[in-house]
Amino acid sequence: MTFKEVLHITGGKSLKSDSPDLAIKSLLIDSRKPFIAKGAVFFAVDGSNHDGHEYINDLYAKGIRNFIVEKDVALPGDGNVVKVKSSIEALQKITKYHRQQFDIPTIAITGSNGKTIVKEWLYSCLSTKFRIVKSPHSFNSQIGVPLSVWNMSGEHELAIFEAGISKAGEMQKLADIIQPTIGIFTNLGTAHDEGFESREKKFEEKKQLFKTAQVVVFNADQQGINFGNKGFGWGESGNGEIQVVETHADKSYTNIRLTYKSKDYTLAIPFLDHSSIENAMHCVATMLYLDFSEHEIQEALKKLHGIGMRLELKRAINGSYLIDDTYNNDLAGLKQAIEFLSLQNQKKRKVIILSDLLQSGLQHDVLYKEIAELINAANIEMTIGIGEHITSLKKYVLGDTAFFNSTKQFLENICNFDLASSLILVKGARVYQFEKITRVLEERIHGTVLEINLDALTNNLNFYRSKLKDETKLMVMVKAFAYGSGSFEVANLLQFHRVDYLGVAYADEGVQLRNNGVYLPIMVLNPSEESFESMLEHDLEPEIYNLSLLHSFIQFLDGQKASIHIKLETGMKRLGFERQDLDELIELLKANKNIEVKSIFSHLAGADESRHNDFSKQQAAVFNQGSQRIMSELAIKPLRHLVNSAGTLRFPEFHYDMVRLGIGLYGLETNEEEQDKLLNISTLKTVVSQVRKLEKGETVGYGRNGVAEKPMEIATIAIGYADGYTRAFSKGIGEVWVNGKRAKVIGNVCMDMTMIDVTGMNVKERDEVEIFGPHIPIQELANKTNTIPYEILTNVSQRVKRVYYAE
Ligand SMILES: *Cc1c(COP(=O)(O)O)cnc(C)c1O
Repeated sequence: MTFKEVLHITGGKSLKSDSPDLAIKSLLIDSRKPFIAKGAVFFAVDGSNHDGHEYINDLYAKGIRNFIVEKDVALPGDGNVVKVKSSIEALQKITKYHRQQFDIPTIAITGSNGKTIVKEWLYSCLSTKFRIVKSPHSFNSQIGVPLSVWNMSGEHELAIFEAGISKAGEMQKLADIIQPTIGIFTNLGTAHDEGFESREKKFEEKKQLFKTAQVVVFNADQQGINFGNKGFGWGESGNGEIQVVETHADKSYTNIRLTYKSKDYTLAIPFLDHSSIENAMHCVATMLYLDFSEHEIQEALKKLHGIGMRLELKRAINGSYLIDDTYNNDLAGLKQAIEFLSLQNQKKRKVIILSDLLQSGLQHDVLYKEIAELINAANIEMTIGIGEHITSLKKYVLGDTAFFNSTKQFLENICNFDLASSLILVKGARVYQFEKITRVLEERIHGTVLEINLDALTNNLNFYRSKLKDETKLMVMVKAFAYGSGSFEVANLLQFHRVDYLGVAYADEGVQLRNNGVYLPIMVLNPSEESFESMLEHDLEPEIYNLSLLHSFIQFLDGQKASIHIKLETGMKRLGFERQDLDELIELLKANKNIEVKSIFSHLAGADESRHNDFSKQQAAVFNQGSQRIMSELAIKPLRHLVNSAGTLRFPEFHYDMVRLGIGLYGLETNEEEQDKLLNISTLKTVVSQVRKLEKGETVGYGRNGVAEKPMEIATIAIGYADGYTRAFSKGIGEVWVNGKRAKVIGNVCMDMTMIDVTGMNVKERDEVEIFGPHIPIQELANKTNTIPYEILTNVSQRVKRVYYAE
């Protein structure tokens, strides 16, 4: 597609057209992601969180020459610019046109749950017969779908895309872009119900996806779901084309007997749980529709495995980080993994370990040239290739390279590589068994992990941002290891999302951030005299809260320049200048012009409770007066800020120039009025170490405080008070989630272990246990132990491994 065609397809207005015949290669929406500038078009979107038009000059400097814009813009030099009403609509039109160039079977998957897994499984099942293009990860939104469809090209013989919507009116657009020939409807759950009037309306909306489809695969046992004569149902009820006659669980398999077109089939699905069977049956039905034989279906089912559908970032050995994406390796997925890698700034050195890409359909040379461009764009220092064909990379990759025939051969030589203090992306096709590599690199502590969902964090950030005026700035508090979530990792994400300021409690925390790639301005709440030097050296900005601290800072500076934040006492009675200190404060600042006041602030003592509203307003009045006075007498205009997370929601009138977000980012809304808008970001998990039976009357643990009132089964789990699971959870107070049910703590919590009552729950060694997360809310744990969620979060000890993931 040329730029001239883009102009025609979008119906936009040409603002600049220096090379109309230039071929468009890639589409770029997010200016922060790595890109290959040649042939890229940037779509500037004026969104609610930021305006893409602001980055046009930056992108131009980095080599981008083609722009789709919503406002009049001028480029610094030659290029192509088309102005349209909506850049997203233009993106959709372009990709719809692109889709029309290919006449291949195109599968579209929608439904409430299981879309991504059905897509990945279908890919695995069908790729023995077709060269397939599919959506990377869970790219299923108004932007994700067009970007996925853009990956279609001449080599492909079949396409699989997923489509998801959150409100009425969206599906029609996705249907227009994908134009599916085969539909798959996974199921209709309750997710995103708020966007729809009723379950029926939601179904009607989702059904729109299948307008052009000849057939729709679905579970015909579901009430109220039908697709008329297009329907290709499966189920036990006899309403579908495929009749499930018998389902029978056998160890780790579910055996299914079914009839289709009067022929009997017996198949074994390598899963036992209900949703995996449903997902696998969608694949079986699709294969039957595509005339796969019983044998072919059975072989495909054997290869299905649970997939980590997410990109995970883990701390690894020797101060490194590991991004573990070992489950598939198509080109689009690789691109996404490299983007995820680039988002991390904690370590400068980037390493990628990659296997041959299988079944891409591209000529090796073309394929590896394309991969090399991605690697070069992301500034990867070291590329380790494993496989027969990947050696083609050598010609094109700018950084260092090394190649091996097999995973085994690489592991024998792993000690020759410098993998310390690096970010390492490990991505390989299943057959290469790259989990052997991640096992070597992963930092092993014990079975307890705190998982942090980076997408949920972004959701929460955007929720608070949506409450701010455009010009209001945002400081995020990352003190106490970002409320236990891990400071560099969270700070890096915040930096990527362009927050304005970070706040830490102590200078050391700020120094650590600086040493891990964080360049945002950082305010230090609790500076000590001993830390002045290191603060200056690391460009950290102290909060100055009284005259004696100011005096010693002035003395220390001895005329050197520095930035500070002035804290006013308004009612919290913690830190801050009193009203009577202001005269001297102003005099000192007048006399020491080397000190720049970056901001003046204070803190509300009861922002989350309406019973303190009058007090909060009084605090604001005192703050207003004091800060006005300092500003006018010094003739300066620093930022002013007063509210925390709760105050941001409850007092829009007190946002001033900036708000300070803390607990809300981490998923807890202390007012509990808009808790439903936030997503849980952290899940603390552990594993069962041992299971045993007790006779009536036997006792459990120290002090023999747990007593079996009846014959019982108990499990020992690998978490104790040293991990942050406090002793207050002893003796039935604490409950954990295991095997789909709650289990109570029995006896006393020990230092590293806890025993739980799992009578009749069929719990086994190595089973996963949720301590808090989606089933056990943090708020509940706080209530039970008479504390607040802040303490539960920050109690999780540093020895607990953190794992970060994005969907
Ligand atoms: C911790 C802190 C915040 C954030 O408070 P949350 O209740 O977590 O939103 C804001 N301001 C100051 C001064 C803080 O110490």
